[in-house]
Amino acid sequence: MVFDAIGDAGHEQVSYFTDPETGLRAIVAIHDTTLGPSLGGTRILDYDSEEAALEDVLRLSQAMTYKAAAADLPLGGGKAVILGDPDEVRTEATLEAYGRAVDRLGGRYITSVDINSSAAEMDVVARRTDHVVGASDGLENPSGVTAHGVFCGIRACVDHVYGEDDLEGLEVVVQGLGKVGRSLAEELLEAGAAVTVSDVDREATEAFAAEHGADTVAPDVVYEQPCDVFAPCAIGGILNDETIPTLECEIVAGAANNVLAERRHAEALHEREILYAPDYVINAGGLVTVAKDHFGGSYEEAYAEAEAIEGRLRGMIERADDEGTTVLEAAEAYAKDRIAGADGESRSVPRP
Ligand code: NAD
Repeated sequence: MVFDAIGDAGHEQVSYFTDPETGLRAIVAIHDTTLGPSLGGTRILDYDSEEAALEDVLRLSQAMTYKAAAADLPLGGGKAVILGDPDEVRTEATLEAYGRAVDRLGGRYITSVDINSSAAEMDVVARRTDHVVGASDGLENPSGVTAHGVFCGIRACVDHVYGEDDLEGLEVVVQGLGKVGRSLAEELLEAGAAVTVSDVDREATEAFAAEHGADTVAPDVVYEQPCDVFAPCAIGGILNDETIPTLECEIVAGAANNVLAERRHAEALHEREILYAPDYVINAGGLVTVAKDHFGGSYEEAYAEAEAIEGRLRGMIERADDEGTTVLEAAEAYAKDRIAGADGESRSVPRP
C-alpha cells in the first residue's frame, strides 16, 4: 500500500524515522529534486493515523515541487511530518533526534517551519544538521516579501482584466489582517487603491481602518462585497461551493495557502469569468525569502526578486488564454516544463 501511495504521485523517496530514546516518529517525503534539493517545512501534528500522516506529507511535498518550480527557484519539493501531540513532541531531545534524521538525508531535504514548528524548534534542529532554514539567526519574517509579491501579482491581473496596471481607485477587499494582509493593505493604499479590510478580530480591523482610511466589512459577508479584487490573506479552503457563487469580484488574488477547497474550484471560478491567480504562484515571496536564507542573500534581494511574480503570472495568464485552460493549469504546465527542461528528458510529473 505504501509503495502504491508513493508511486502514484511520483515521489523519489519517502523515509520513516524513529528514535527509541525519545519516541520520535517522523516521515520525510522527497517528491522531486530535478531542480535542486527538496525544501519544505516540518509539520508537527497528532494525526488520527499513520496513513493520514503519510497522505498529508505526500500531498504537501508534491505541492512544494510545483511551488518552487513555478517560482523559478533551484529547489525541489519536500515536506516532513512529526507524528504526535505537539506539546509532548517539541522537546529538545526529540527535535535533536529529528535533526539527526534530517542530516542523514545528506542535504537532499532541507527543512523549515510549518504548523506547530517555528524558529524556536528550528534552532534546536539546527544543532544537529545544516540542512535547515527558518532558524532565528536567518532572514527576518518573510511576510513583507510575500505581501509585495502579491501586490505585484495583483498588478498583472488588473492589467489583464482592465488593460492597465494603475491601481489608483481600484477597489480591493483584503480578507485577513495578519502579517501578510496588513502589509498588503498598506501597500495597496499607498498605490491609491480603495481598500476594504475584514478580519475575525473586529477590534484590530476597526483600528486599522481608522488609522489608514480603509473601509471594513464583516467576515461573514466578505465574499459578497462588490469589488475589483478579492485578496484572501487569512485561511485556506474559503473558495468553495458555497462562497464562489456569491463572489462579486473580477479577480481573486491573495496570499492564503490552499485557498481553493478543491482543485475543481479553479474551474468554477473560470466559469464565472473570475480571474484566479494560483495561490502558490502569487504568494511565492515567502519561498523566495526562504531560498535566499538557504543559498545566501539579503531580505532586500528577496524583496526585489519577488517582483518577478508580476511577469511570470502575466505569462501564465496569457498561456491560459491561448490554451483555453485555467491559470492553475497553466501554472502547472509552466512548472512541468521547467522540470522537464532541467534534466533534458520529457518527464511526466503527475498533477497535484
Ligand atoms: P497570520 O496568522 O499572521 O494572519 C492571519 C489573519 O487572518 C489573522 O489576523 C486572523 O485573525 C485572520 N483570520 C483568520 N480566519 C479568518 C476569517 N475566517 N476571516 C477573516 N480573517 C481571518 O498569517 P499570515 O502570515 O499573514 O498568512 C496569511 C495567509 O498567507 C496564510 O494562509 C498563510 O499560509 C499564507 N502565506 C503566508 C506567507 C508568509 O510569508 N507569512 C507566505 C505564503 C503564504
